[in-house]
Amino acid sequence: MRIDVFTIFPDMVSGFAGQSLLGRAVERGLLDIRVHDLREHTTDVHRTVDGSPYGGGAGMVLRPEPIVASVEAADPPRPLFLLGPGGRTLDQAMARELAAGEGLSLLCGRYEGVDDRVRTEVCDGELSIGDYVLGGGEVAAMVVLEAVGRLVPGVMGNAESAGEESFSDGLLEYPQFTKPAEFRGVAVPEVLRSGDHARVARWRHARALVRTMRSRPDLMDLRGGLSAEEEALLLEFGLDD
Ligand code: SAH
Repeated sequence: MRIDVFTIFPDMVSGFAGQSLLGRAVERGLLDIRVHDLREHTTDVHRTVDGSPYGGGAGMVLRPEPIVASVEAADPPRPLFLLGPGGRTLDQAMARELAAGEGLSLLCGRYEGVDDRVRTEVCDGELSIGDYVLGGGEVAAMVVLEAVGRLVPGVMGNAESAGEESFSDGLLEYPQFTKPAEFRGVAVPEVLRSGDHARVARWRHARALVRTMRSRPDLMDLRGGLSAEEEALLLEFGLDD
């Protein structure tokens, strides 16, 4: 899958994309991440990418010409999303949708934002990572790269890891434990050391339910509450978190 990113800080994004899970996926040819420096398409000696806003006001706005020139030269995979607080908010369902597609592209704004003609003339949509304002789109691009990239088939080592994690069935994930068996007087739950795989699976489902009811009742409502079997699981394992 190819993902193109347009930014005035290419090193931030390419550094991130070269490490860990994404870095390995790029090396193995599963992901083709291309980062484009918007300054390469400026035409003046100062490599100007911004201008003051028409109508007045504080700060600077990214000019349309270097962005449009950069996008046209790269002919990037579509959809091309403008990153910004006004877009559709990324969630796991959208990450899955994007990971199942052919590719996508991300445009990072900076300063006060991007000349609106970029949105209307070259972008296919807007994407936000949450209801807060960042200083630029680079961190948002990294969030999208990682959330989508890890779901591309083959990127995660264990094919099962995406199936059981948070949000995969409308629930948060059950708690995980590793060595030591006891830490600061707190023991790993006995069931996880029992070797009884069916009981472990039932315990994990019960813990995921309790955790979701406690921390994210909104998710519980969305999935329509508890089934009869789930109520039985809670009776079996209790409501302690
Ligand atoms: N003045 C704008 C914010 C500009 S922030 C406003 O009030 O809406 C500068 C850049 O950071 C934006 O162009 C966008 O690319 C990026 N950015 C800021 N918040 C973001 C968010 N929640 N999601 C994705 N990108 C964001």
